Amino acid sequence: MFKALLVTKDDEGKTHAAVTDLTQDQLPAGEVTVAVDYSTVNYKDGLCIGPGGGLVRTYPHVPGIDFAGTVEASDDARYAPGDKVVLTGWRVGEAHWGGYAQKARVKADWLVPLPQGLTTRQAMAVGTAGFTAMLAVMALEDHGLKPGNGPVLVTGAAGGVGSVATAILANLGHEVAGVTGRPETADYLKSLGATQIVAREEINETVKRPLESETWAGCVDAVGGDMLARVLGQMKYGASVAAVGLAGGAGLPATVIPFLLRGVNLLGIDSVMQPYDNRLRAWQRIAQDLPMDKLDAMVQPATLSDLPQLGKDILKGQVKGRVVVDVN
Ligand code: NDP
Repeated sequence: MFKALLVTKDDEGKTHAAVTDLTQDQLPAGEVTVAVDYSTVNYKDGLCIGPGGGLVRTYPHVPGIDFAGTVEASDDARYAPGDKVVLTGWRVGEAHWGGYAQKARVKADWLVPLPQGLTTRQAMAVGTAGFTAMLAVMALEDHGLKPGNGPVLVTGAAGGVGSVATAILANLGHEVAGVTGRPETADYLKSLGATQIVAREEINETVKRPLESETWAGCVDAVGGDMLARVLGQMKYGASVAAVGLAGGAGLPATVIPFLLRGVNLLGIDSVMQPYDNRLRAWQRIAQDLPMDKLDAMVQPATLSDLPQLGKDILKGQVKGRVVVDVN
């Protein structure tokens, strides 16, 4: 027997999440069985703990889009019992059972070895949110961002993606401006390395002028919607925005003028289907460029029974930094 957060659907179509005892033979098919140490809470987890947001296909369901732990059994030559592993993405926790359980069974292709220098707890403090933040920074670098180019804007800064992006960018020597709707997080954001705090309402408005003064040398955007549209018109000549999230909306009420007159680039970031080699590259960069003391300062610890409430909190934008779930 092992414990899991199981989401069930009743006859009226309402979902219910509760910590439940499961047996190993209830686990889905897969080559590798993992004894999970830690999982995390991302925005998508909030959807999957609750009514599903169209992401969950079948019930009963075990959410948790990330986990880290130790291989218990493996039918794949790449992994042996005792190996430490990490999983993010591949629609685990949505279309497949995920990490909110003491055991998980998955395809070997979906795993990566625990990056050297990280514990399973630290890997989950990073989780999909932090991994995606790293992918965004790498994309900005690949398009020419260098320290000294000017301030880099991070939107949704006090959230998971935003917190990790802020800490990585500051550690790499960038000047970081964090946009937040929670002024009380200003000291937290400064402790991660932000030097400028931008109030959400200052920037979260419908575009009135397609071009404003050239301000930002790069942007990691977790918000989308009006904020992303507005930021495009504030980018320096030739600068790039990494579009990561839609916490503020999936629309993009923008004009193409910043692309045409300022050569601004809009870079799409997907963490779910990232090829294996790029996953390894991103995890190596995380181990190298994300200061672990800053990561520790972002962490709010939790257990399986805290998840129904945390799922609601993250959908309302009320989680600060990263939640690490000790499933044991
Ligand atoms: P969090 O909830 O931790 O962070 C989102 C932050 O956005 C909030 O903390 C808040 O920051 C800000 N925010 C929330 N609501 C609004 C709003 N209505 N208007 C403006 N700002 C708002 O989520 P994550 O960091 O885990 O994820 C951020 C986004 O990135 C989500 O949309 C998620 O789906 C997406 N994502 C995408 C991935 C990909 O592969 N592309 C992978 C991971 C996440 P503050 O309080 O500081 O203003």
